[in-house]
Amino acid sequence: SIPLGFFGGIGAASRQGVLVKGGNYLEALNAVKYVVFDKTGTLTQGTFQVTAIVPEEGWAQEELLKYAAYAELHSNHPIAESIRNAFQGSLQEWGVSEVNEISGFGVEAAVEGNKVLAGSAKLMKRAKISFVQPDITGTAVHIAVGGQYAGYIVIADEIKADAASAIHSLKQLGIKRMVMLTGDLKATAEAVAGQLAIDEVHSELLPEEKVAQIERLMERKSAKDKVIFVGDGINDTPVLARADIGIAMGGLGSDAAIEAADIVIMDDKPSRIADAIRIAKRSRRIVW
Ligand code: ADP
Ligand code: MG
Repeated sequence: SIPLGFFGGIGAASRQGVLVKGGNYLEALNAVKYVVFDKTGTLTQGTFQVTAIVPEEGWAQEELLKYAAYAELHSNHPIAESIRNAFQGSLQEWGVSEVNEISGFGVEAAVEGNKVLAGSAKLMKRAKISFVQPDITGTAVHIAVGGQYAGYIVIADEIKADAASAIHSLKQLGIKRMVMLTGDLKATAEAVAGQLAIDEVHSELLPEEKVAQIERLMERKSAKDKVIFVGDGINDTPVLARADIGIAMGGLGSDAAIEAADIVIMDDKPSRIADAIRIAKRSRRIVW
């Protein structure tokens, strides 16, 4: 086909809802061999549903949920939003203070004079709160109140409708390896990867460990092969900046992620990555 040229390519991509911040990224898209996906909000919808509330002895479900919802009142993490949505009562600004969000772990806050922790198993371990790890499908948000384990909330996320076909198209376009990175638990990560043709999974990663994984991949590949990282931008802005091509989901992504990204997918569909590569292939510069 006739090369569009890079200016034409940027226009063609924008008509598909893909904002490319420069012709050099179209050129790099032609040489992509690795696509690294963040899980939550990128391959999954990132809009979680609360599927179970499991309090410890002596706690009511609604009470456990209330403490969690207050602790999560100011968090923009999709997990936090789902917990607030599940709570039936109204939440007052003054109900929570001393809020501290610990990226990749969860939150700590003061609710009704009690110190509340809501987050991953790692968050509990960090605070030396003992509990029995539940055997569930989905993500457990563990809650401690006043230094005591109070129970957990199970939330489930769904794989995006076009995620499987997105990965299939990328394989057809000659991508060598698909990698998934996530802060979520191994079992949840493997359940998602198992439904998609992902070659390599790294789970239970902290935000800085995601950066380290990208750096390791950049070192082991040959210089001419390019790496895409695609994320929703919640906790992964530094990873976006480190990859050859950082792609952010524009709908879910934070302003910081949209700023740090080289390419922004406005409708959050992973299949847009393949669309962008196809456009890049058509707009390849004629080298004299
Ligand atoms: P992912 O890599 O899947 O995008 P994150 O790095 O955002 O996940 O978070 C990793 C894990 O930390 C989550 O699976 C969750 O267990 C916990 N977590 C992070 N932020 C919060 C929060 N605000 N409330 C509860 N749990 C959280
Ligand atoms: Mg994330």
